[in-house]
This record gives sequence, C-alpha cells and structure tokens, in this order.
Amino acid sequence: MSTNPVRAAVYLRISQDREMDGLAIERQREDCLEIVERNGWQLAGEYVDQSKSATDKTKKRPAYDRMVADYEAGRFSAIVCYDLDRLTRQPRQLEDWIDAAEEQRLSLVTVSGEADLASDSGRFFVRVKAAAARGEVERKSERQSRAHLQRAKQGRPPKGVRPLGYNIDGSLVPAEAEAAREIFRLFAIHDGPSIAAIAAGLSGKTGPHIPRSLPHLPKHSRTLAIERNERRAAEGLDPKPVPDDGPWSSSTVLGILRNPRYAGYSVYTDRRAREDNKRRSWHAQIVRGSDGEPVRGLWDPIVDDATWWRVQQRLDAPERITNRKGSTARLHLGSGLYQCGECHVPVRAHGQRYRCPECHLARSRAQIDDWVLRIIRARLGRPDLVDALEPIDQPRITEIAAQIAAHEARIIRAQRDYDQAVIEGFDLKRIRDRERAEIDELTKERLSLMMMRDLGGVVDAVDPVAAFDEADLMIKRRIIDLFCTVFLYRHQRGKKTFNPETVRIVPKGL
Ligand SMILES: [Zn+2]
Repeated sequence: MSTNPVRAAVYLRISQDREMDGLAIERQREDCLEIVERNGWQLAGEYVDQSKSATDKTKKRPAYDRMVADYEAGRFSAIVCYDLDRLTRQPRQLEDWIDAAEEQRLSLVTVSGEADLASDSGRFFVRVKAAAARGEVERKSERQSRAHLQRAKQGRPPKGVRPLGYNIDGSLVPAEAEAAREIFRLFAIHDGPSIAAIAAGLSGKTGPHIPRSLPHLPKHSRTLAIERNERRAAEGLDPKPVPDDGPWSSSTVLGILRNPRYAGYSVYTDRRAREDNKRRSWHAQIVRGSDGEPVRGLWDPIVDDATWWRVQQRLDAPERITNRKGSTARLHLGSGLYQCGECHVPVRAHGQRYRCPECHLARSRAQIDDWVLRIIRARLGRPDLVDALEPIDQPRITEIAAQIAAHEARIIRAQRDYDQAVIEGFDLKRIRDRERAEIDELTKERLSLMMMRDLGGVVDAVDPVAAFDEADLMIKRRIIDLFCTVFLYRHQRGKKTFNPETVRIVPKGL
C-alpha cells in the first residue's frame, strides 16, 4: 500500500524581542529542515517573517498569515518551527493549532522539543504555557502605561499623535505654532470670536464675525494622514486613505484650546481611562509632581500661562452665551441657562427658586431641576443619541444615515411579510437580527465620526445616563444646553403639585 509522504511547512521568525536575539534565521532553518528530513516528510514550503512581534495582534506577519491560509487549503499537514513562542504567542492562535493536533489533522513539531502535542499531557502543558504568556503580555502593557506616566512626570513629550504646532519630539512646526498662538489669542479676548468663527477662519472662510488674522490651513487630520503615509512610504508600506480637505470642525479647535500642552504643561491620559470611556477633563490631564505643582514639559510653550488659563475660564464660563457680565453668583443647574417663557431672558437662582429678572416669575429650583434632569436622562437613554451630535465627516455620515435607513426598511418589510404570512416567525427573527447587527456596526462607525465636544465623556460613554449622573455641574449644564432650551412658565396660583406643562423643553436641532 503506497502512501503519500506527509507534507510539512517550516515556519521561521526573527524577532526584535530581546530574548530572541542571537538566533539567526539560518540556524533555525537548518534545525527545522533536519526534522523534516528525519521524519521522511516532504517540504511543502518555508514561511519566514522578519522582525515581527508574535504577541501584538495589530502587527502583521504576512508569512504566518499565508501559512494559515495554505494549511486551511490543505497544502500541508505538519508544521516544524523552532519553538512555540516563535510560532505564535497569542493563546487564541495557539489553541487553534493545538486543536488541529488533537484531532490529528496536524503534526506540530518544535526543534526545542518542548511539548509533545500528540499526548493529552503535552497539550495541557502547552495550553498552560499559552495562558502564562498572555499574562506576561498584560503585565507588559501595564509596565508601558507606567512608563508613559513616568515620561510625563519627567516633562517629556507624549508619544502618539502630534498636536497642531508640535512635532512628535516636542519641537515646533513654525507655521502651525503661529496659527495655534493666534487661536489662543483670539479666544482669550473677552467677547472675542466664537470657536465656530475661529474654525471658519482656519478654513479660509470670510465674513463679518470671522477673524482675518488666521492662516488658512488644511485640516490637521489630513496633514497627519499625509505625514503618516510619508513614513509608511519610507518603510515600503502601502499608503492609507487620506481624508479630503474640508472645513475645520469646532471640536478640533476646542481640542486645541483645551490642550494644556500649549502652555507647556506636561499631560498624561490613562490608557484604561480612555478605553473605559471615562474621559477626564483637560484640567485633570495635567501631570502634577509630588509637591502638587503642574509638571512643566521640556518643550517650548506656544502660549503663556495667563492666556491659557484665560481661555479655560472663557470656555468654562456658565454664562458664556447668555450672560457676558461675568456674574460670580453661585452656580445652579439652570441659572443663566433656563429662560423665562414670557420674557425669553435667562433666569437666575434666587434662594430656593429660579427667578426671571424682568417679570419676577419664580419657580421652585428643585422641582424644575428634577423635571429637566428626567427629560435629559430619557434623551440620553435613547439609542439615537449620536444623531444629536454635530458630525465631522458629513459625506460619510450622510451615507451611513442612508444605509441605516435601508436596513431599517428591510426590517419593516420583513415585519409586513410576517404579518401577511409570507414569511415565518423564524425568518423574521433571522432578518431582524442580521439587519440590527448591521445597524449596530454603522452606528458605531457614525459615533466614532461624530464631534465629541468636551462633554466629560458622557455622550460617548457605554452608559450615557450613568455617566451623566456622575458628571459635574458644568458638564450637566453643557449637555442640557446641547440638547434643549428650557422655558419656565408661571404655575397656577394655589396649586401645590408640580405641573409639567409649566416647563417647556424644546429640543435643539432634532
Ligand atoms: Zn419673565
């Protein structure tokens, strides 16, 4: 009886990981080929990855991927590698290979001979080893977070995306730095141009309220994308898409105005806080030394302290829009925010009441606030929350909206078909699940494209209602202001109970 020889793949990798140093690819190859020969196997192919980490899911290992595809296509039934670490250190991938070995579809042999995948105990050993490797990866990421904080405490520039005006190493990009300085100067002016007007100025627009002192710059996201492609080209990688140039968004300008780096303050954002969507305020990102004082960055500030803080003050001013007198009265949820329904002027807090300064309408603060908060919580709990946010990539947003509408139409059609007994309940469920999954994906994409104002991470939180309840007063006020205008009316004389009809809550832009 003649049998076909076993076809074997040889996988080789040189890693930049320190512990892998010194093991040349030639030696790996020789040892692996010797095993192929000793077993009387036929070499199906060599797969070689260079200088790639086996742990990072985001780093591409083209040869490894090709090998997986070839295995799935049935091109070989044995893999020879130097050791399992070199094959993969992702437990998920290792599990797949172990499963294949267990079902005897695959012979997996290592030069190091660390585990016999043909036996239960051998596979158990390898699985334990894989889990331990995963733990090591997590500890490494924890160490990196600490290293970043350490960097920040030393005042070194953060790694990652460079802000307008600075290079990654903290040196200045002169033309951009000039623009950033002008953005701060303009916004620091009492009653100066609005954020939207500054964004319009950077976009090259003109108009009575648009400052002319700003240079017309391409959108920063576009500049960054072009620079990233230059780096990719230098590494011989394919370019990634570059966003079209378009108007600057208010959120980008706000992000600049809120960034403490421009005043030379060292900043740090905890990676996990970012992932948990528990975005901290810009103030909280300023790194402080053991004496509690802000740590100074080693880079040149673009604006002086006084200008930066004046800008923060203007951004924080509760009466930024409704009252320019700079009242220092103690702030309540609705003071300067709710309006008198008769006179359309902002009400003020007066004892336990909100009071109209014109007609002296007075309402119980607690009752009104309870009601407004109820409405806002209901609004935040609605799935179409993102619709209320100003978009940053209008063409794609419009496209997504159309796609979502199409998916919704399919659900409605299926429901109709079910009502008319054209399809079964099972089919209705299947269609609905499928379409809803598509809608969820599109909604997520849309959310990521949406302008995220400094709303304390509330609207992009996993649970916006809970995040809202935890947010400070300023954030709550901004969110109320974002979604609606509140008008107060007189309540009937003698009536003790609260009548919701005496408060009109008008949604904004919905
Ligand atoms: Zn009034």
